[in-house]
Amino acid sequence: MEEKLKPVAEAANFIEQIINEDIESGKVDAIQTRFPPEPNGYLHVGHAKSMFVNFGTALRYGGKCNLFFDDTNPSKEKTEFVDAIRADIRWLGYDWARECYASDFFDTIYEYALRLIREGKAFVCDLSAEEIKNTRGTLTEPGVESPYRNRSVEENLRLFTEMKEGKYKDGEKCLRAKIDMASPNVNLRDPVIYRILHATHHRTGDKWCIYPMYDYAHPICDYLQGVTHSLCTLEFEDHRPLYDWVGITLGFSPKPRQIEFARLNITNTVMSKRYLKKLVEENLVHGWDDPRMPTLSGLRNRGIPAAAVRDFCSRIGVAKANSECEYSYFEACVREYLNAHAERAMAVLSPLKLTITNYEGEEELDFDINQTDESAGTRKVKFGKHLYIESTDFSLDPPPKYFRLKKDGYVRLKNAYIVRCDDVVTDENGNVTEVLCSYVPESHSGSDTSGIKVKGVIHWVNADTCVDAEVRQYESLLRDADYAGQDFSERMNPDSETILSAKAEPHLLQAAEGTPFQLMRTGYYKKCTEGGKLILSEIVSLKDNFNKK
Ligand code: ATP
Ligand code: MG
Repeated sequence: MEEKLKPVAEAANFIEQIINEDIESGKVDAIQTRFPPEPNGYLHVGHAKSMFVNFGTALRYGGKCNLFFDDTNPSKEKTEFVDAIRADIRWLGYDWARECYASDFFDTIYEYALRLIREGKAFVCDLSAEEIKNTRGTLTEPGVESPYRNRSVEENLRLFTEMKEGKYKDGEKCLRAKIDMASPNVNLRDPVIYRILHATHHRTGDKWCIYPMYDYAHPICDYLQGVTHSLCTLEFEDHRPLYDWVGITLGFSPKPRQIEFARLNITNTVMSKRYLKKLVEENLVHGWDDPRMPTLSGLRNRGIPAAAVRDFCSRIGVAKANSECEYSYFEACVREYLNAHAERAMAVLSPLKLTITNYEGEEELDFDINQTDESAGTRKVKFGKHLYIESTDFSLDPPPKYFRLKKDGYVRLKNAYIVRCDDVVTDENGNVTEVLCSYVPESHSGSDTSGIKVKGVIHWVNADTCVDAEVRQYESLLRDADYAGQDFSERMNPDSETILSAKAEPHLLQAAEGTPFQLMRTGYYKKCTEGGKLILSEIVSLKDNFNKK
């Protein structure tokens, strides 16, 4: 015999509290949720939160979560989006019990509409969408009943059948639930539940020219899937009375329970498919998976690990009130994850030649693969006479407290030796093109007996073994809150992508595609290759400099 479902010991949020109560009161004996994307675009990080809530809650209770495609709106839906959504869910680390579509249930949804008509709870209305809107009333005034509200059951059945058969044009008629035009909840004022739309559906083709409205179809689909808790975002709170009306009127038992939670909003980014689609269509980004996009495919392409996204979702929590999360908080979660998991490597983004005049030959130095994780071990890095350092790590005219390299100053080369800058080579404009140093042989990292105290440690690459790399750096797609309220195309940050050419350790070229690295003192970058060329693409900066930018 199966074990009886138990409440979770410590409810992580208000949704789990409600579910615990439902289990304790015997209302449910297994938990079923669903993640319900509309296949009209790619998923974004807001959907990650919804998945975290829907899949995560089911997992916590040993229940099931379905992937439910809400395809009641045929004109905008595409199979391309369905495939992308599946891939994104799997990438995030979730799997669904069953995949279904609102359109799988169209026959039953239609049967239920006939039942509502027979029971005098729905009527065919000839008012236009405009007229329906104008007679709906306001928050303080009741609506006006449709002149078609009292058609006979027979007439309604005939007209609705004719609607289905294609006798009428789009918008000429619709089916409305007969509820209460004076209800304080506008959604209950005889809402439209079917509309005429002569459109080809991505799954049902031309079988239907009438389509159910979301508010009517959704509770039915939930019920038919055995959903116990229908978790959705706050904007559906006012629709819950209609959700319940459908369930109660059609006698659903057990009736699914809708619970609303706050959407995730993040500063400096657009999180609505409609806008993201515009960015793609107007070529303001390279595509849905542009690394600057808040889409899951964008995050994946950016090199952000799925585990960091899940961690972020769990930390922001599930609340009942809307709020906006700082983008820097998201970045902090990514950074924390990568700090613990990413291999270290060196690359120089603005190379300046450094020659060690008193060094001959070559040697291999030990480098910690990840100094926060001893088990990661070490790897060998070739050291030599000819190196590159960051041009920003040398100054001819240093400000006070400049601990990097300056004329006659000392600095430590990461994991190697202390060097002293003896001289520089300049071009005709006086720009430094090379620094000439001498190294201190007894200053080897880990066995330094030189007695020289240096405050600065800088990274480097070996000029004889390094490889050329293209470095791509990103800033947020949208300018900050000062621009809020403006059209997003005016808020576009013109400098959100920067391309640099760098010198990198050859190790980076050998690493597997997509591997995230911490480029020491620079940031976290994803390794990839394009046409044999090494690309280092920024995942997140090393420090939180977001607010300074
Ligand atoms: P968009 O406005 O981006 O198109 P949507 O709500 O129309 O979003 P759906 O495909 O209908 O997108 O969303 C699937 C599920 O994801 C819904 O339950 C929706 O509430 C949820 N969801 C969408 N955006 C967010 C968000 N920012 N935070 C949390 N959940 C979200
Ligand atoms: Mg939607």
